[in-house]
Amino acid sequence: MLKDSKASAKSFEQLQEQGYIRYEDLPLQTKNGKRRDVEFVSNLYEEGDQQVIQCNIRDITERKAAEELIRQRDQLLQGVFDSVSSEIVLLDADGVITHVSSSWERFALENEAAVERIGIGMNYLDVCPRGVAKDPSATRALEGILAVMEGKLPGFLLEYPCHSATEQRWFKMQVDPRPREVGGAVITHSDITESKLAGERIAHEAFHDALTGLPNRSLFVEHLHQAIAYAERHENYLFAVLFLDLDRFKTINDSLGHAVGDQFLVRIGRKLESVLRPEDAIARIGGDEFTILLNDIGSIRDATRVANRINREFIQPFSLAEQQVFTTASIGITLSKLGYSSTEEVLRDADTAMYRAKSRGGGRYEVFDPSMQASVMALLKLEADLRLAIEREEFCLHYQPIVSLENNRITGFEALVRWWHPERGLVFPDEFIPVAEETGLIVPIGKWVLREACRQVRTWQDAARDNMPLSVSVNLSGKEFSQTGLIAQVSNVLEETGLAARSLELEITESAVMENSKSASAMLGQLKGLGVKLQIDDFGTGYSSLSNLHNFPVDVLKIDRSFVNRMGPGDKNSEIVQTIVQLGHNLGMEVTAEGVETAEQLNRLRALGCEYAQGYHFSKPVDGELAERQIVH
Ligand code: C2E
Ligand code: CA
Ligand code: CA
Repeated sequence: MLKDSKASAKSFEQLQEQGYIRYEDLPLQTKNGKRRDVEFVSNLYEEGDQQVIQCNIRDITERKAAEELIRQRDQLLQGVFDSVSSEIVLLDADGVITHVSSSWERFALENEAAVERIGIGMNYLDVCPRGVAKDPSATRALEGILAVMEGKLPGFLLEYPCHSATEQRWFKMQVDPRPREVGGAVITHSDITESKLAGERIAHEAFHDALTGLPNRSLFVEHLHQAIAYAERHENYLFAVLFLDLDRFKTINDSLGHAVGDQFLVRIGRKLESVLRPEDAIARIGGDEFTILLNDIGSIRDATRVANRINREFIQPFSLAEQQVFTTASIGITLSKLGYSSTEEVLRDADTAMYRAKSRGGGRYEVFDPSMQASVMALLKLEADLRLAIEREEFCLHYQPIVSLENNRITGFEALVRWWHPERGLVFPDEFIPVAEETGLIVPIGKWVLREACRQVRTWQDAARDNMPLSVSVNLSGKEFSQTGLIAQVSNVLEETGLAARSLELEITESAVMENSKSASAMLGQLKGLGVKLQIDDFGTGYSSLSNLHNFPVDVLKIDRSFVNRMGPGDKNSEIVQTIVQLGHNLGMEVTAEGVETAEQLNRLRALGCEYAQGYHFSKPVDGELAERQIVH
């Protein structure tokens, strides 16, 4: 067996020294050439004075093969372990570590603070809590591992933060049981910092406005929800919601550009934050719309005080792009006293009150009361109906004569629009023109009015006796006046209808002219260039400066009826009328008095040298047929 004689001698020495020799891994070849592994054990003992060597040879081929298989499997397992990015530790049923992935080594090194170096053969249950003693997550982790190992939990998951001197990282620990026959557990650790941060970022973005960084509607609704719930349980707790919309933000955006508009909104956001207490909540919920939740206030006065404070703060201009930009805000307020149960109701009512503040000129607040809701509904209906009215051509014109005070003859008519509402009958412009202005529907309505008025007057001119020089006055709203296509539109209509330009007079209110005062003189100049006459309507109600007025190529000042029909002998209104007449004449303009209701007013106007008059004293606005009779007969 031991063919090598040198080796045999060495073995014998060893045998004598140790009393036995054991060889494993002795390859043997069988007769038919197959390889077998054998274990060879020889023992030396004495029998009497004889030394006896007993040799046992055992075929261990099968055992070796089984061990090799286990080794290979282990290697494979380790390979898999080491290739995944998670850190894996295998525990046996007693908590002793049987496998550790190589990434664990890296992990343990990088996170010394959190875990001691963990190696095969150590008991995890002993090692782990020592390494992370100060960390409360460690206790939970350990409890989780034990519960899984004892079969009380099917698995266990824990996300926990790990602080180092420079950063905070997040880890996820997952504990799964190993097969029951083996026992123990598989612990997987992974670094989830990146996905955690991404998650936080997404959560932040979902609840904040990207431009101003303020909370958005979703987050505000969340706060509001809590406030409502609290109010339901605590009778004395009161909160208010302010709905704020900037006045004229569109003008700022259009004239200074969107980049400046954006900056402006950011500054507004900061300013609003500065007037609030830490317990209040603010959000930007739309373009130029902000909401504020005032928590736990004493009374309505606390809310109105904040609203006033905001508009006071806005008096200070914002300097942006070397410009001084002003704004005011329309603010609607509603109070929890009304017993809200949903966030939508709160926001809807605050919005309604804001709308009321806006329609009263902006730069102010209104406190919601339930009657406002009805008027808002009516307004929405009106707007919807108005859209249909354009398609269905439900408008008509009434005409009110304008009389020359020199000869008492009708020189022309003012065209005044009316709406034949299918359910409500005749609707007057005071009700729908403001809505039409706000929604832009005034543009198509105005186009129709202009064409119809010109067409009508042209036919009257043809029918009238002695070809009397009849003119027609058409009202232009501020929005129509600032519209770029206006010049082309007027000249097209004149051409289509064949009306001479000098027969058309355009009435523009004093406030519309002053609001657009920069572009107004250019626009008026171009209209004048077409040959039409220009009037300033409702004069005395706006804020013209004399220097401006001087620059505008206007033919007629039309004194507002509020001065005319309240004129009494020697009173303030008579003086105002007298001043306007003189002013017009000094600027080379003619003057029309509107709203003349009595002969007395007429006489006074005549004495003041006013050129034209219009009013119920002569005729109310009448339909085309009646108006025609006034000139033909
Ligand atoms: P406005 O331009 O000041 O029109 C004169 C208004 O005074 C008319 O009211 C007319 O009926 C009324 N009125 C005339 N004489 C008297 C009087 O002696 N006493 C009193 N108390 N009132 C008198 P209306 O027709 O209801 O029009 C109201 C306003 O609607 C107009 O005021 C004008 O601003 C606007 N409007 C009317 N038609 C149009 C239009 O086609 N386009 C535009 N943009 N606005 C229009
Ligand atoms: Ca008018
Ligand atoms: Ca007027």
